[in-house]
Amino acid sequence: MKIIAMIPARYGASRFPGKLMQDLGGKPVIVRTYEAAKATNLFDEVYIVTDSEVIFTEIELHGGKAIMSKKDHDCGSDRIAEAVEDMDVDIVVNVQGDEPFTSKEGLEQVLSVFEGEDADKIDLASLMTEMHDWKEISDPNSVKVIVNKENFALYFSRSPIPYPRDKNADVQYYKHKGIYAFRKQALMDFYHLPMRTLEAAEKIECIRYLEYGKNIKMAISNTQGIEIDTPEDLIRANKALKEDKDISVNNKYRNFPMVPKVVFGKGCFDQLSSILAPQRKNKAPFIFLVDDAFENDHPLIDRINLRFNDKLLFVSAKEEPTTVQVDQIVKDIKSEFNYKPSGIIGIGGGSILDLAKAVSIMLTNKGSAADYQGWDLVKKKAVYHVGIPTISGTGAEVSRTTVLSGPVRKLGINSDYTPFDQVILDPNLTIGVPKNQWFFTGMDCFIHCVESLNGTFLNAFSESYGEKAYDLCNEIFLSDELSEVESRGKLMMASWHGGMSIAYSQVGIAHAMSYGISYVLGTKHGVGNCIVFDHLGDYYPEGVALFKKMVEKYQIEIPQGICKDCTEKEIETMIEIALSLVPLWENALGEDWESIMTREKLKSMYLKM
Ligand code: NAD
Ligand code: ZN
Repeated sequence: MKIIAMIPARYGASRFPGKLMQDLGGKPVIVRTYEAAKATNLFDEVYIVTDSEVIFTEIELHGGKAIMSKKDHDCGSDRIAEAVEDMDVDIVVNVQGDEPFTSKEGLEQVLSVFEGEDADKIDLASLMTEMHDWKEISDPNSVKVIVNKENFALYFSRSPIPYPRDKNADVQYYKHKGIYAFRKQALMDFYHLPMRTLEAAEKIECIRYLEYGKNIKMAISNTQGIEIDTPEDLIRANKALKEDKDISVNNKYRNFPMVPKVVFGKGCFDQLSSILAPQRKNKAPFIFLVDDAFENDHPLIDRINLRFNDKLLFVSAKEEPTTVQVDQIVKDIKSEFNYKPSGIIGIGGGSILDLAKAVSIMLTNKGSAADYQGWDLVKKKAVYHVGIPTISGTGAEVSRTTVLSGPVRKLGINSDYTPFDQVILDPNLTIGVPKNQWFFTGMDCFIHCVESLNGTFLNAFSESYGEKAYDLCNEIFLSDELSEVESRGKLMMASWHGGMSIAYSQVGIAHAMSYGISYVLGTKHGVGNCIVFDHLGDYYPEGVALFKKMVEKYQIEIPQGICKDCTEKEIETMIEIALSLVPLWENALGEDWESIMTREKLKSMYLKM
């Protein structure tokens, strides 16, 4: 399928003449737009179609491709249609010339609809984004769209549609974003069909397709671009560009939240009721998500004081938590209670803690947990959430992420709203953890430290936490001097410090590769890390040597040969997942990591594991 981008560029825009040639951070707006479209790597070709010699010359000057339109055109689509008439292409994407921050995500989304089951029915695709501000909704400059349940457009309007006669009806307004992906035929049809009344009245060109019975599929994108419609927009855009630069520089300064309240000590679990009491909101329950290791009359359960309509849910940690599981729990809670819960309390290992964090986020944020996998995508503060670890090592009790397997990736919901509001560290809760599990989860902590301390992102902050945790792990797993009681308390603190260490740096190769294995084979995080780490002597010589001693001392069997029977496709997916974790590789191997860790190299490493 040949896909091209066309950027219609008219010099004399009515509201802001000459806007495309205005300066945006040292280059004309139109050049910025062209470069942004090109940089997405989604297109076989990118062209500017223009009526202006000035724009034509400017684009050629910057090494781009420009086409002069022969005729005068009323709208961008006509301008594009004329240009592609004799081209051999399948899909033509119309990128707005005045949207210099066109995001790859939005374009990917609009193109992806042609891969869906109903692709045959689609003449063209376009984008919409959620609107919440009534001022914007009622502004005729923003075009609203309504869709049917398959997201095919029903109508576009400058009026608020639907009209909110019932002020309490739960409607989501969508703004139409002027990005289209046309099948070539649809575009040519448009060119030859005369304008009708609805389009003429609203001055919205895509209405013409509806008037002629074409199907427009809408994709949702929530990335906000900045359209340059007015001189004020240009000022905003210049500011955003500058901030963008500052942000990439500032990446070395992270401003991250830490758990604001923590209580530590044997038996401190019994503080739970008094800690929760002030957080209780009227009729809103506390929901306890508890690892099902405690299900059968475990004494721990008697120590949880359920009040009023509080609810206790046992959850299995057999499988790593998924976005589907989070969505289901949230749905169940919403259907059972009229009130948003007073809080979510997670009691268990990394799996349950992550689940509790994700559920608390999804109780206040719309859509699926999968929409928020990534960095800083969460929009609203989570409900109050408390973490109570019953096994130590992952650092999930202190981290800013919740790791979930989703439909297309295994990735954390990494946000300022993720960390717990309260953590209860009671070493006694870890009594009863089976030896192998204790080891695998404990090694997660050890590996966090090794990867953080050997990474290129290391700074004094992560080093101080990392070194402490590393020393504690050595003491716990290699010296013979600690009593069990001491060891439990120390491992709990090692887990905490290891988590803090990666908060200001990153993990590395073992985690990147282990994510690939977990995603494809369902291997648990701690085990996956150990399988990989065992083979990383070339990258972390000292850490791996110590690790091997620990394995020997506790006679742990690290699974071997788990990838040797994998299909080509499975290995490819592992590689895909691993390589997508760019910050981990950059931390481990530096900026040039791609030349060091090629797909072939990764494949040969996986096949040995
Ligand atoms: P886990 O939560 O998967 O639990 C492992 C096993 O131990 C389960 O069978 C559980 O039932 C059992 N268990 C837990 N406490 C017990 C107790 N006191 N007594 C007896 N059995 C007990 O293990 P984990 O290693 O703590 O967590 C792994 C998960 O953590 C993975 O899903 C991983 O992705 C996630 N993780 C998250 C972060 C983060 O920062 N959010 C960091 C690392 C790992
Ligand atoms: Zn880990």
